[in-house]
Amino acid sequence: MRMSKMYIPTLKEDPTEAEIVSHKLLLRAGMIRQLVSGVYSYLPLGYKVIKKVEKIVREEMDASGSQELLMSAIQPKELWEATGRWENFGPEMWKLTDRNNREFCLGPTHEEYFTNLIKNEIKSYKQLPLNLYQIQTKYRDEKRPRFGLMRGREFIMKDAYSFDTNVENMQKAYDIMWKAYDNVFTRLKLNYKVVQGDTGAMGGRVSHEFMAMSDAGEGLIAYCNHCDYAATDEKAVVVYNLEDTKPKELETEKVYTPNAKTIEELVDLFNIDKSRFGKAIVYTVDGEAIVVIIPGDRELNETKLTNYLGLSGHELEMADESIILDISGANKGFTGPIGLKKGTRLIVDSRITKMKNLIVGGNETDYHIKNANYGRDFQGEVVEDLLLVKEGDRCPKCNETLLMARGIEVGNIFQLGTKYSEGIGAKFLDENGKEQYFVMGSYGIGVTRTVAAIIEQYHDEKGIMWPLNTAPYHVIITIINTKNEDQMNLGEKLYKELTDIGVEVLLDDRTERAGVKFNDRDLIGIPIRVTVGKRASESIVEYSLRTSDEKQEVDEKEILELVK
Ligand code: ATP
Ligand code: MG
Ligand code: MG
Ligand code: MG
Repeated sequence: MRMSKMYIPTLKEDPTEAEIVSHKLLLRAGMIRQLVSGVYSYLPLGYKVIKKVEKIVREEMDASGSQELLMSAIQPKELWEATGRWENFGPEMWKLTDRNNREFCLGPTHEEYFTNLIKNEIKSYKQLPLNLYQIQTKYRDEKRPRFGLMRGREFIMKDAYSFDTNVENMQKAYDIMWKAYDNVFTRLKLNYKVVQGDTGAMGGRVSHEFMAMSDAGEGLIAYCNHCDYAATDEKAVVVYNLEDTKPKELETEKVYTPNAKTIEELVDLFNIDKSRFGKAIVYTVDGEAIVVIIPGDRELNETKLTNYLGLSGHELEMADESIILDISGANKGFTGPIGLKKGTRLIVDSRITKMKNLIVGGNETDYHIKNANYGRDFQGEVVEDLLLVKEGDRCPKCNETLLMARGIEVGNIFQLGTKYSEGIGAKFLDENGKEQYFVMGSYGIGVTRTVAAIIEQYHDEKGIMWPLNTAPYHVIITIINTKNEDQMNLGEKLYKELTDIGVEVLLDDRTERAGVKFNDRDLIGIPIRVTVGKRASESIVEYSLRTSDEKQEVDEKEILELVK
């Protein structure tokens, strides 16, 4: 392609709206433009890279046995009501209404839709396993769309869905997808980690996130260098079903009836480490109490919480302030059904790593203790492993010191079980002719976010440094002086020769100054460069790589060999 003809609107200055490198460089290299917040146009150079990422994803998905199809972005409300997610997905869901007042959403994900597709059509266990995928535009009305392609409100995702006869087979499908994802991100040259994930709005118990390591990432990862333990801080909740909060053999001075009116007073009174114990909220669900304790710097996602508890569809009602006080157990005037009594579910954010300083109370005067320890002072069912997520904490697997790092969630795989097949009513007949719900998994890769992640890992102060297989072009030929006939002829000749053997070449034949051309080629980051200048008359050109300062003067005849 000739740059003189191509639409690559590069910018000299950093755009003020961009905070992170990939956003800045995508704009400056003329790869994307914003329409409205979180909605972008992919310009020729940017779209070429997207297609290269898609190609690698496609090849690995196909090789894994998944089949590509394409669904609509528009989905009717009824599908989502069947699983409770019309309400539970939350405000991220982009809803719309047609002229007859029928309600729809622009798909943020497609579990319901895929399940509904195969319902009544896949009838027998003999037709399983089945794995289907698409590469398609998704819509999420994100609270804070930002960082360019990193968090858009419209973005491209590869999403796949597996259908199996039982849990064991679902786990096999999950492992196959895991391997395919490893292949994808390895081929994309990303430095990444696979971490235990948060199941979020998808539900289910097991999930893994593929995190591209980068300080620009919004995800926080705790990992261990001594074993393979790694998890995101979003995994978060530990649930204790309290059986008995009555202090047993505790010394009397450890029993408190604090007279605190606010959570702040409580924190003072018990000398609670505020950075780790920010908020305690008492919710009631159908009259049952749930106390949620979360660090101060974090908002509780109520949708996630209800999904996690298997209570989707139920209203979480926040108890009023006087009841919040009751986590101290000190509220003598307390009369309602709420308190840390037997059966109360206590949900602790995983960042609260030790139960030290947790206050529990029996909803009876004096049945309140400080420094309560799980096991010693109260019993309960630990639903998830307690995740240690502070730098320096111990690894739950091997007890070595945990490290923290930031990462970009480029992929996420989920073991869903039968949540969606039950909701949608999708069944098959097993070997015994008995009806069973499909056991499912779902698997996402953020294609456009991955483009941003590659840039975060491959750039320098001058611009992008594309790995060869995702570069928009492999080679750029820069003609220093387009008015010089020798230079033009040689540039054109090399352009043709390379293009003919299948190399993707960009020919900078613009009438700009050499300095401008050099800056642009650094900025857009084409990996291999050929500079045609003064020595064109002797058939000598300069060969260099974007990643190195080394330059080589070579006879033009050698270029073909060097590039191959
Ligand atoms: P995040 O935690 O960043 O909000 P998510 O966990 O909500 O992402 P999933 O539902 O797991 O996202 O979707 C699958 C993949 O789609 C993610 O791993 C990510 O790569 C991509 N993705 C999700 N939301 C966005 C977005 N707003 N913009 C770009 N890519 C996204
Ligand atoms: Mg999200
Ligand atoms: Mg996530
Ligand atoms: Mg996710």
